[in-house]
Amino acid sequence: MSDIYHMIALRGGGPVSVIPVEAPTALVLTAGEPAGQPWPQFVPTPPLCVLQPIQRKDRGLSLLLARRRIERMVLNGDPVPLLAELQERDELVFPRHDLVVHVTLFRGASVLSASPAVAGRKCVLCRTPVVAEAPVYQCVCGAVLCGPADTTDATGCAALTPDCPRCNRPVNLTTEGGYTWWPEGVE
Ligand SMILES: [Zn+2]
Ligand SMILES: [Zn+2]
Repeated sequence: MSDIYHMIALRGGGPVSVIPVEAPTALVLTAGEPAGQPWPQFVPTPPLCVLQPIQRKDRGLSLLLARRRIERMVLNGDPVPLLAELQERDELVFPRHDLVVHVTLFRGASVLSASPAVAGRKCVLCRTPVVAEAPVYQCVCGAVLCGPADTTDATGCAALTPDCPRCNRPVNLTTEGGYTWWPEGVE
């Protein structure tokens, strides 16, 4: 699977920064530091928070956030505990730094032909084992559904349900990689 969480960071109306999180990643402020400081400086820059992708058995890929105790941040309007699990569409605000970070997911194709790793697994709707090379739909959570041959094909279990029976994410038929969501108004 080629699903990767991306952080879309916007600071004070400045340029947008897109940060893929494929491995444990520290979010550090580098651009826009106070100007006019003597150079060189040897100032340790503590990260705002640390992010790590994790595979959950029943929910698939999610993102674990660990924050510094002194760093105030807001997640979807609520204060963030020291440890939090993020999903696509979550919004993090760092009020002290005029920084907003949106969480989105870059997905590989969801409509594919069953690889040897997928063959033999059961469709989460009809419980039929998937045959190698057969068309399948694969959800972010890892669940497979008897698939359509392409995105316009209305046959197969993937066409019968608007949401994944296992994790309730919307069934999104695509044969190419792309973002599952992009924040409104962000270029
Ligand atoms: Zn099925
Ligand atoms: Zn799912």
